[in-house]
Formats: sequence, C-alpha cells, structure tokens
Amino acid sequence: MEAKPDCPKCHASTVYRSGKILGKQRYRCKNCGFQFTRTTPRGRPASEKALAVTLYTMGLSLSAIARIFHVSPPAVLRWVRNFAERVYEKPEPGEAIIIELDEMWHFLKSKKNKLWIWKAYCRDTGQLIDWECGGRDQATLHRLMERLKK
Ligand SMILES: [Zn+2]
Repeated sequence: MEAKPDCPKCHASTVYRSGKILGKQRYRCKNCGFQFTRTTPRGRPASEKALAVTLYTMGLSLSAIARIFHVSPPAVLRWVRNFAERVYEKPEPGEAIIIELDEMWHFLKSKKNKLWIWKAYCRDTGQLIDWECGGRDQATLHRLMERLKK
C-alpha cells in the first residue's frame, strides 16, 4: 500500500484515507478538511522550496542546491526570489523583536528528523524580520540570534 501523502493544501501530515473515487484512493486532511486524490502535486512542495531557500541563506550555491533537488539553478533562483519578495521587508533598526518557534515539516521521511523554523518578528508591526530553519535546539536559535545582532 502506498504511503500516505502530505496535504497538498496545508502540507500537514494529518491525512487519512477517505474511500475511493473512480478507482483512485481519496484522501482527506484532518487539519484543513481538504479532500484530494492527486498525490503528486504540480511543482515542488512548499517544504522543499523553503528548505532550498534555507540552504541558500546558509551559503550553499544555487548549482549545489539545484543538484540536491534535481532542478535547474534558475529554478532555485526563482524560489529564492519568490521567497524574498514575500517576506523580506526589513523594519527600522532598533525595534523590538519576538522569537517564535514553529514546527515545519518532516521533510526527511523519518519523524525523528522534524524541521523547525525559528521566526523573528518585529513586535510593533508583526513583520517577519528573519528566520532560521533547523533542529529544535540552541544551535539553530543561536544562528538566528547572531544574524539579528548585526
Ligand atoms: Zn490540509
């Protein structure tokens, strides 16, 4: 039997089998209620793109990332640009910052390898200032804090 896919809409792994339609397995997401039969989403999942962007911010080259994800370097560049346009609006320096920890996705199939994202928000505007992806540990938080100090 096929492994259960992640929800194509909210990317949660809380998907369960919900009957069959025209011989195809139907799934339903417990988290957002989305029903789907397609298990191979168009394009790459958001989790892969976010991980690619994270690797880029950590200093990996576009061509190295492209090799990891089996896409072309311009595709990786597009992911990075799209991400930058969505989140990078730097607030004025000296504003208060709050740190939040979100569970991301277990990108690597094993549940032991969960990815967490640490996010730094400006307290006044709620704007995302910076983020760091990695383990739920001090090292990841430290990387983010070091960057914020600058
Ligand atoms: Zn969902």
